[in-house]
Amino acid sequence: MNNIEFPKEIIHCQNMIGGNWKTGSGEKIEVYSPYNGKVVGEINSATAKEVNDAIELANEASKKWAHTPLKERTQVMFNFRQILMRDIDKISNMVSLESGKTLGEAKAGVLKGIEVLEFALSVQNLDQGGKMEVSRGVYCEYRREALGVVASITPFNFPAMVPMWTIPIAIVLGNSYVWKPSEKTPLTSTLIADSLKEAGLPDGVMTVLNGSAEVVNAIIDHKHVKAVGFVGSSKIAKLVYQRASNHGKRALCLGGAKNHIVLLPDATPEMAGVGIADSFTGCAGQRCMAASVILAVGNVDKHIEKVVERAKSQVLGTDMGAIITKEQVTFLKDAIARAEKNGAKILLDGRNTPAPKGMEEGYWLGPTVLDNVKPGSEAASFELFGPIVSIIRCQTIGEAMKIENEVEYGNACSVFTSSGVHAERVIQSAKAGMVGINVGVPVPREPFSFGGINASKFGHGDITGVHSLDFWTNTKKITTKWEPQSDQNWMS
Ligand code: NAD
Repeated sequence: MNNIEFPKEIIHCQNMIGGNWKTGSGEKIEVYSPYNGKVVGEINSATAKEVNDAIELANEASKKWAHTPLKERTQVMFNFRQILMRDIDKISNMVSLESGKTLGEAKAGVLKGIEVLEFALSVQNLDQGGKMEVSRGVYCEYRREALGVVASITPFNFPAMVPMWTIPIAIVLGNSYVWKPSEKTPLTSTLIADSLKEAGLPDGVMTVLNGSAEVVNAIIDHKHVKAVGFVGSSKIAKLVYQRASNHGKRALCLGGAKNHIVLLPDATPEMAGVGIADSFTGCAGQRCMAASVILAVGNVDKHIEKVVERAKSQVLGTDMGAIITKEQVTFLKDAIARAEKNGAKILLDGRNTPAPKGMEEGYWLGPTVLDNVKPGSEAASFELFGPIVSIIRCQTIGEAMKIENEVEYGNACSVFTSSGVHAERVIQSAKAGMVGINVGVPVPREPFSFGGINASKFGHGDITGVHSLDFWTNTKKITTKWEPQSDQNWMS
């Protein structure tokens, strides 16, 4: 079992408004640890008035911050990085506590967030705009300008990493940032916002507002909010995208996924076994890049044996974390039963996998492998969001790719093969924003950007990397012409 430290008292999570922590006056929401099912924290949602007051202060702060030179803004972010590295164990513990991740997974998420922060630190060196003489004595120039107040709404499954996809980039570019964390995992926001304050970020540049849909809507509707970043389920991503777009605001809303792994007979069984099992069991399957369907082409039984063997070896609480809520465990167990009723053969059943000792009240489900799943069925096309993988048997790569293409999502698709030709075919035909070759979780490393297509993303561009710079800024184009001057003696 992971050595997670549980708090001695319930953590009261407040809203950060104008640089100060204030208890919200709205609805109280309890935060449970998936490890033991106990209340570990609580939030009081922000009211409409508190949202308004906070955004007014954020707007005031944005005016000065936008005109602070980029190199000075970057120095604050350097400090932020040092503080995050100093406190990484404390932050990882909080992430584990509220999201159910193992400590190792939590730490990896914080480190990935720091990688995005490092990209933000490089903006001062890589993004120099451009100026050229376009005609004799006439110059055109690009200048990047901050938008003002921008907002970010984040999901439960990565309480530190997903917010860190946008916090450093949006802030280094001169914006004030309003963050609405998931109400299921809001506690980590206190540590991140405190770290920014300690780093020297001026009050009001980071705002944290807790709550659920009403708070999100009040943020989107506020006249000072110029752009909305969202990460969560596709259903809500689409709603948020539509609401922001109706106001004429820019929005980039990342949604859910149903990621496929094309498994070919020429793949190395050991490599495929580890890569696929770790993909669907990592973070207990609660990540938008988790493998969800294996498209098993031809005879790959020995590969599947390796997948099952590896998945079976995962010990709950040590190698694999917990599921976010009790209701989600029930939903997943029912989905397994429905798949079986629908003809699937259960190769590995996680429904009765024992909970870690002392954590029996927590929300647990062991790795589950379903074979002979029918294309188009719930287990084949619906995002379950748990440690369950569905195997669909196919005869050809063409048949496999047709199934992959028909699913509405488009985050990731991987292929396990030793053939470059087969790999290239999958790269070219996959309807996915991110493709892996013998990589089970093909999350690009910075500076390569992150983002899916189809129902996995509403809006244009990617959320990290160079593509994100245009989302958080306006580009001003300046054309200059001065009247030619004859020489002048300023001393006369
Ligand atoms: P969710 O959509 O339920 O919630 C996300 C955020 O939206 C939360 O902050 C929540 O408070 C808010 N919200 C909920 N209902 C709302 C409504 N009606 N109106 C406005 N806001 C609302 O998602 P979740 O369960 O927290 O996270 C899991 C989902 O996120 C999965 O579908 C997963 O695939 C997806 N996800 C996607 C990515 C990606 O990069 N594409 C990354 C992580 C998670």
